[in-house]
Amino acid sequence: MDKFTYHNPTRIHFGDGQIAAIANDIPKEKKVLVLYGGGSIKSNGVYEQVAQALSGHNWGEFAGIEPNPQYDTLMKAVEMIKAEGFDYLLAVGGGSVVDGTKFIAAAATYEGDDPWHILSQQKTVTHALPLACVLTLPATGSESNMGAVVSRGTTKLAFMTPHVQPQFAVLDPSTTLSLSPRQVANGVVDAYVHVMEQYLTFPVNAKVQDRFAEGLLLNLIEEGPKALTTPNDLDVRANIMWTATQALNGLIGVGVPQDWTTHMIGHELTGHYGIDHARTLSIVLPAVMQARREDKAEKLLQYGARIFGITEGTADERIDAAIAATIAFFKQMEVPTALSDVELGDNDIDVIVSSLEQNGMAALGEHGKVTLTESRRILETAR
Ligand code: NAP
Ligand code: FE
Repeated sequence: MDKFTYHNPTRIHFGDGQIAAIANDIPKEKKVLVLYGGGSIKSNGVYEQVAQALSGHNWGEFAGIEPNPQYDTLMKAVEMIKAEGFDYLLAVGGGSVVDGTKFIAAAATYEGDDPWHILSQQKTVTHALPLACVLTLPATGSESNMGAVVSRGTTKLAFMTPHVQPQFAVLDPSTTLSLSPRQVANGVVDAYVHVMEQYLTFPVNAKVQDRFAEGLLLNLIEEGPKALTTPNDLDVRANIMWTATQALNGLIGVGVPQDWTTHMIGHELTGHYGIDHARTLSIVLPAVMQARREDKAEKLLQYGARIFGITEGTADERIDAAIAATIAFFKQMEVPTALSDVELGDNDIDVIVSSLEQNGMAALGEHGKVTLTESRRILETAR
């Protein structure tokens, strides 16, 4: 295990009625900007609960942060913040609203000439407006981590800084009951792949991280399908919500190498073809497992045995079975598992590989071994 420092400062308010906790957690003297997406919070009662909780505060709102938040939209919020003097941001929605708000928080106080450089040149963020969130879609882990992903045209890039870590996050599972089956499935699959990006790496020697990760994977395999077949089961929603948070709050990623190849290639598929984030991951991950099977062999065997009980056969047969079981789980969650499932082919592989090159993604993976040639091989495996 490598050395690490672990600190997750996000306070979590979990459970029914917890939106009310906002009232005490945001200082009364702050001028609060509530940011949200396309209106789901207006039809499921979340907006009213937030408004009620903020009744003692001075607050305004910014609507219209789209899925895979776009830079131009976010910069409109930055203008509004500067013009009207907001000094606390409250994101209400899914990962896109939370990520978008993180970028807005950093851009609003950025002193360089162009806030886009935070993403395109990975400029260091030295401060940001304080922010918090009410999460309505369990998936990204953005509610208690320091990362965010922002799009500009077909370019989709991430940045990380502790300055945009939410101060608190409200997780009320009942707010997720209004999600479509597609978004429920997307969330489960995104969380699953977050765990895999931190778990399916080498060398293998971090037992706490491994067994936490395996617990989270088993939860998602058990509870994910139930969220589709018994959509009103609040216990199922609660377990999925808390699992998705734990999947990317930093805990299972401390002291271990992290992969993220699947996410980086996935971001290109979303940027160029608008495919939902999780649906890019379910296409790419099995191909990464296949293409990287030699380096990752020991962990693939552990994964197969502990998650799916695969203990019979040669090492190669067990790895094949572990990959097949992963694909079967994704199919059960009704997400695509091949490029052909979303009608993409060889020309599109060329587009993605050259875009990876343009975005400086030529040494991906836990040890930088996924070159552009290797990314092409992964995409060809995903055909
Ligand atoms: P999302 O893009 O935030 O939301 C997808 C859709 O779900 C939106 O149309 C939204 O509608 C709707 N929705 C949200 N909550 C709802 C509810 N309770 N009821 C009904 N509809 C609801 O989805 P996401 O999967 O959470 O976020 C995806 C983004 O996060 C991608 O850009 C991805 O790259 C990024 N991501 C970030 C991290 C990270 O660590 N920061 C990790 C992985 C992925 P409204 O707009 O109307 O609310
Ligand atoms: Fe993700």
